[in-house]
Amino acid sequence: MSARIYACEVPVRSRHDVVVVGGGTAGVAAAVAAARGGARTMLIEAQGLLGGTMTAGLVTPIGAATTRGGRRFGGILWELLDRVEALAREHLGAAGEPHSAPHHMAEALRALAAGAGVEVLLRTALVDAERAGDRVERLLVHNKGGLAWVEGGCFIDASGDADLLRAVGEATVLGSEPGVFDQLVRGGYAEVHEGGGAYQGYASSGCLQPVTLFFTMGGVEVERAMALNNRRLTYADVGLTRADFLRLPYANTPGFEVGAGDELPLPQGRVLVTRTPRPGVVAVNMSRITGVDGSDPDQLSRAEMAARAQVMALVDLLRRCIPGFAQAWLAEIAPSLGVRETHRLVGRTVLSGSAVIACAAHPEAVAQGSYMIDIHDPQGRRKAIGGELRGECYDIPYGCLLPRTVSNLLAAGRCISVDHVAHSSTRIQGTCLLTGQAAGTAAALCCVRGCAPADLPVAALQQRLRADGVTLHPH
Ligand SMILES: Cc1cc2nc3c(=O)[nH]c(=O)nc-3n(C[C@H](O)[C@H](O)[C@H](O)COP(=O)(O)OP(=O)(O)OC[C@H]3O[C@@H](n4cnc5c(N)ncnc54)[C@H](O)[C@@H]3O)c2cc1C
Repeated sequence: MSARIYACEVPVRSRHDVVVVGGGTAGVAAAVAAARGGARTMLIEAQGLLGGTMTAGLVTPIGAATTRGGRRFGGILWELLDRVEALAREHLGAAGEPHSAPHHMAEALRALAAGAGVEVLLRTALVDAERAGDRVERLLVHNKGGLAWVEGGCFIDASGDADLLRAVGEATVLGSEPGVFDQLVRGGYAEVHEGGGAYQGYASSGCLQPVTLFFTMGGVEVERAMALNNRRLTYADVGLTRADFLRLPYANTPGFEVGAGDELPLPQGRVLVTRTPRPGVVAVNMSRITGVDGSDPDQLSRAEMAARAQVMALVDLLRRCIPGFAQAWLAEIAPSLGVRETHRLVGRTVLSGSAVIACAAHPEAVAQGSYMIDIHDPQGRRKAIGGELRGECYDIPYGCLLPRTVSNLLAAGRCISVDHVAHSSTRIQGTCLLTGQAAGTAAALCCVRGCAPADLPVAALQQRLRADGVTLHPH
């Protein structure tokens, strides 16, 4: 590919105390916390709504909102849950499953950001960043107005893909580190969720969890639909033969490769639906494309196209032979592909999978997680590799949010500094909201004190987080 230099004058759009890149769960929590802390805060989001994977990806279940024993983590996470619950009651008359209403999520996030006085700039993408010495000076962004500079005192990367961290040359890692999976196995921890022989693991580095396009279906007889849910199925279970399946137009297309055995070929190996508060509507988590780097635009586009074809095939298959779906219809396909894993910061502290599994305490905890190790098979159709934690919850130290070389930048959410195994737990939305709140609170405190994030006393940050309703549970 040949390259050409393009030069133009770029206006400075605005200057803020704190600029957050990415308006997913982590970015909204970060921006709200920063603004509440007194910082003039801008939130830059590439899409036309807030929530990222939670809303545009239709991934609404908020995991890790409590310790494994059910004690709440509090903070903006629980403000969001309470707001969504209230909206569900008002609009649907339903108390349960508030999480399964993405539009309520988007509205609750909008209201949180607006209430805190965050300046939200939608449909605007980070293009590049200018670094001077150890500081980020300004962000180059693009939207319908063209290119513009956005200046700031402190920046937070909540892009999920570590876009800002990579733009300023911080060290990041893509996917699995070599040997991480083997370490789990040697430690006697890794477990395969179901039969079919031992999982071989992945020897090479850079393995990524698969991507999934969520969709919802209406007109479902939900109780009947649950009968075959979350199980590996044979052709006979659904009243088909292998020959019947081979006659389907999507047989042997990606995700539906017909094997020699009697197992019904499905992209994730199973029917996987969850209830929603809307009568007769279920959310379907059944598409899967492996080997995709969700931060590479070409790979992402190919995967989005392939996943859409998979969704149409899945709708047909569900209607054709899964009990409860005979009269069902496709209600909604997520506008955006769900990306589980791309680049992570290699920061001052790297939280390890073994610390997560052991539920290790850390004196510099600024957030906590409680979700199981949940590595969706990067190579095939198995559900997940992982298992439960060995305690109530684990600590995420402040150093996981801090880059090594840039002084006025923090990470939040999916791209914080953890290893591949730890990431399979810290990527969960409750934890992303908590690391977002910690990053935003730290950024605001730094503005007030005139110090760099790395120089902020962690005790002061912990004290402020507690005052703002975050519970850092004792171990
Ligand atoms: C299929 C799937 C199922 C899952 N299931 C669950 C579950 O059941 N429970 C659970 O709790 N979690 C689940 N997760 C994990 C969870 O949804 C995500 O890890 C989490 O939402 C990530 O939040 P985030 O804010 O860090 O990143 P994201 O949600 O990815 O948000 C990043 C935001 O940044 C924006 N952005 C990115 N780059 C730029 C840029 N250059 N300029 C401007 N904006 C940018 C994006 O548009 C996006 O809005 C699932 C994930 C997937 C993919």
